[in-house]
Amino acid sequence: MLNQHTATFPTLLSPLKVGAHLLRNRTLMGSMHTRLESLDRPIDRLSLFYAERARGGAALIVTGGYAPCPNGLLDETAPMLITPEQAHTLKPIPRAVHAEGGKIILQVMHTGRYAKIAQPVGASDIPSRINPRAPRALSTAEVWQMVDDFTRCAELAQSAGFDGVEIMGSEGYLLNQFTVTRTNNRSDEFGGSIENRHRLAVEIVRRTRTRLGPQFLLMYRVSALDLVEGGATADEIARLAQAVQAAGADIINTGIGWHEARIPTIAYVVPRAAWRFAAARVKRAVSIPVIVSNRINTPDLAEEILASGDADMVSMARPFLADADFVRKAAQGRADEINTCIACNQACLDYIFVERPATCLVNPRAGRELEFSQLPPRAVRRKVAVVGAGAAGLACAVNAAERGHAVTLYEAEREIGGQLNLARAVPGKQEFDELLRYFRRGVARHGVALKLGARASAKALASAGYDRIVIATGVRPRTPQIEGIGHPKVVSYADLLSGRAKAGRRVAVIGAGGIGFDVAEFLLQDEHRDGADAAEHAIARFHTEWGVDTSPAAAGGLKPTAPVTPPREVTLLQRKPEKPGRSLGLTTGWALKATLARRDVRMVSGCTYERIDDAGLHLRIDGQAQLLVVDTIVICAGQDSDNALAAELRELGIEPEVIGGAERAAELDALRAIDQGTRLALAF
Ligand code: NAP
Ligand code: SF4
Repeated sequence: MLNQHTATFPTLLSPLKVGAHLLRNRTLMGSMHTRLESLDRPIDRLSLFYAERARGGAALIVTGGYAPCPNGLLDETAPMLITPEQAHTLKPIPRAVHAEGGKIILQVMHTGRYAKIAQPVGASDIPSRINPRAPRALSTAEVWQMVDDFTRCAELAQSAGFDGVEIMGSEGYLLNQFTVTRTNNRSDEFGGSIENRHRLAVEIVRRTRTRLGPQFLLMYRVSALDLVEGGATADEIARLAQAVQAAGADIINTGIGWHEARIPTIAYVVPRAAWRFAAARVKRAVSIPVIVSNRINTPDLAEEILASGDADMVSMARPFLADADFVRKAAQGRADEINTCIACNQACLDYIFVERPATCLVNPRAGRELEFSQLPPRAVRRKVAVVGAGAAGLACAVNAAERGHAVTLYEAEREIGGQLNLARAVPGKQEFDELLRYFRRGVARHGVALKLGARASAKALASAGYDRIVIATGVRPRTPQIEGIGHPKVVSYADLLSGRAKAGRRVAVIGAGGIGFDVAEFLLQDEHRDGADAAEHAIARFHTEWGVDTSPAAAGGLKPTAPVTPPREVTLLQRKPEKPGRSLGLTTGWALKATLARRDVRMVSGCTYERIDDAGLHLRIDGQAQLLVVDTIVICAGQDSDNALAAELRELGIEPEVIGGAERAAELDALRAIDQGTRLALAF
């Protein structure tokens, strides 16, 4: 049972009546495609994955999308629910969730023209920019068959023990494609007038309600903002919400943006709660509960939105990957122990796009519950030293201490965090503050003996009687061999991001990896506003920059983007001949590149650096000698491992464990560091 701190989050933790169901609080774990189905024992994995979130207090869970017919599959490996045998296989999932006091509904999703299958189908034959396969327009009879397919899928979900279904009508999938003229040029009863374009969604809801009865929880996910040209206006969205309510929906969930939209909707560049206005508009149009979603990652923010009346329930998907116990911790007055989703997409969406099962950068256990539950329990209590309180060292120290080991954590700096402290300086990456807070709390809670400002020596470590010594001393920024590298114009990214060095107006950045791009963004960031209205100001700035029109009449919620006056001239350089930005995150890199392009960042490949002097940076670009007249040159040329201590220990006959950047500097990121630190700790 949750010990409810209703005084802190009175609205979030209050029950909500949805149709025939009473939900224990107002948190929804939103649908995520996890690709856990592609691993062995998928049902065991999914059951454990969802059950942990139900145990952690999520009131209602929505599964990933199940296609109601073969042409609705996202791709050939995606899940489908069309036979009683498949329904039978799914039974352990709702059983496991119910055993933990939660409720779970199955998402029915037809991907329409987004399907990566041989012949996708759609409302029309209009192709999408994100799928090279053109869709075939469904015949009228096939559309009526689609109503049957959705209803049949819902019946099968009911027979498997699910409490209901979510009918997926947003994100540009099939039902969304029917609702707008952008993708619907039909002339039958499913095209033309707004009633006709809404007919498929409405008939699915009506028939599902009639066939499955009043006990079955029926959620419809409406696209509250399409973010594409030719998308719906607020009035059209309100009318659809009203029509699905009248047809029998119990609750409306909201989705933001089609997958082909050119505006980021959930990445870290999106300010928290940037889309609440769209859910609030839907709420004003209907009397059934409405769910708000996207970039809501703390209980405080969820509470504030619900208390304001903008929505009745909050959908959080990635935050439940990051911490299965999100609700339980909030309810027990331990909100500061929540492992917060930092909206990086690195181990969830970026993995799914390359057909890897999802996990989480801040929580390597996510999606791997089966594997972690099989780890042997701790055998003996060990005395452990961890040297370096960056991401790898922190993950190792906190997890080892949580397992009951006696852990001492040494950090040469006056604060924990290592490279995380640099990342948090980058615009949008302030979310890393939450990770630092989580680790800080973990250190205190599990009794890690933290020695700040303490540079551990091999001799001292060797004589202290540790059973295990973990070297997590991280990396040193690489200094390239360029004539004049010691010139006062030259600064390292570490000095710049930590505030120890300042940049002039004209800047060259040597190295166009992840950090080079981050540094360019740091150099070009807009003025920030502090104070009570800082969050609102950030949202307004985001809407202006990306061309989001919050006025109800705007079709698709779009307006032209505003011109940006960059505060600096930045040139981003690399030696490789390829286009810069290849190493950036799949689902976040495009937004970062667009942000820099709007600020006129010049990107140059194929460079050979010759020398640096008072005039600037002398280089060859594709063999041609050039001078870049700049005030500052920032070095972002990768890193080398800082592992001298490990070598010194070996000389004393001690074999340490070496993790994170100290083990391998190439392709180091917080994802690998945290995963490695956590797994090592769990092996002690
Ligand atoms: P990186 O991605 O390996 O980039 C290093 C850059 O330095 C490359 O552009 C490389 O390009 C250049 N370089 C390497 N050696 C050089 C030398 N001797 N002289 C001049 N240039 C040199 O490393 P990073 O940018 O430091 O990032 C570290 C890790 O953090 C990476 O794994 C990265 O993916 C991750 N990260 C990712 C993001 C993100 O995705 N947004 C943000 C931050 C960090 P050339 O060799 O072609 O010149
Ligand atoms: Fe959130 Fe990043 Fe974890 Fe995805 S990988 S759930 S975005 S913290």
